[in-house]
Amino acid sequence: MYDILIVGAGPAGLTAAIYARRASKSVLVLEALTYGGQIVNTLEIENYPAEPHISGFDFATKLYNQAKELGAEVRFERVTEIRKESSDADASHFGVITAKSEYEAKTVIIATGSANRKLGISGEEALIGRGISYCATCDGAFYRGKTVAVVGGGNTALEDALYLSDVAGKVYLIHRRDEFRGEEIAAAGLKEKANVEFILNSVVTELKEDGGKLVSVTVADAKSIAAGEPTGLREIPVDGLFVAVGRIPSNQSFAGLIETDEAGYIKAGENCKTNVSGIFVAGDNRTKEVRQLVTAASDGAIAATAAINFLNR
Ligand code: NAP
Repeated sequence: MYDILIVGAGPAGLTAAIYARRASKSVLVLEALTYGGQIVNTLEIENYPAEPHISGFDFATKLYNQAKELGAEVRFERVTEIRKESSDADASHFGVITAKSEYEAKTVIIATGSANRKLGISGEEALIGRGISYCATCDGAFYRGKTVAVVGGGNTALEDALYLSDVAGKVYLIHRRDEFRGEEIAAAGLKEKANVEFILNSVVTELKEDGGKLVSVTVADAKSIAAGEPTGLREIPVDGLFVAVGRIPSNQSFAGLIETDEAGYIKAGENCKTNVSGIFVAGDNRTKEVRQLVTAASDGAIAATAAINFLNR
């Protein structure tokens, strides 16, 4: 039986592993795909304290090696279910089921992150990091003085467009309706920006590339797409496209046991405690305001400390 079983080897999970091992707890990290989480898709990280320039892959590898060198065991298996065998004030015991095996742990930290909702159009995957980004704060600086477009109408899209308007030369905001889901005050702020142009009632239908890099997006009238006959086609030359059409928290395997909000994020405050005693959550898959690398690492430290205190109580 492990003291702390961590689901997810992204920045939150691996930071939790470092803290747990430094407190001499036995640790198993279970990861479905590869270590590092979504940060491995980031070409360059420029906003992590004391690391002014590092690739996402190098950052993730350093973090992974640090956790391993401290003695964390890592296995690449997808968790399909967590079972509460017992969880009370005196003892907690969980069964963690994967496609290959079943593990037992006294505490569990869920650090499975979230996935970007994709536009789902041809060429999108291949152009990630080559003109397509899902994070303006991470990648906006690479488009200084250039032309970019943001897709979406929620708070993320509005904030991304506002952020990019101070960095890029020109920002198009493409949204499928003429009303924004995001806050009115953010939309009003954007209307004041001379370099921001709204393209409403429109959806992106095509991405064009040259030499493996995005060069333009084509939009069409949203209603015409629904009717199956695209009209109002317009090709817009851009250097970058920021897709901000929402995120999908990776919490599907824990539904039923752990309480989530309407959007599927695990309900927890800054103490990272879930509704189940002995289960903690860290990183992008919990309810929170700021989802960044540094806040994921912070959550990892908090969740591990909470689990350590729980075990030592
Ligand atoms: P969101 O609120 O779910 O908005 C997603 C947007 O993308 C919507 O405008 C939606 O259009 C559009 N969309 C969805 N699928 C699309 C598709 N396939 N093609 C084109 N457009 C598509 O997501 P979010 O902006 O990431 O925000 C998530 C949550 O975090 C929200 O609760 C938000 O308020 C919160 N948040 C808060 C802050 C803040 O308080 N400072 C900052 C960022 C985010 P429709 O509107 O037509 O559905």
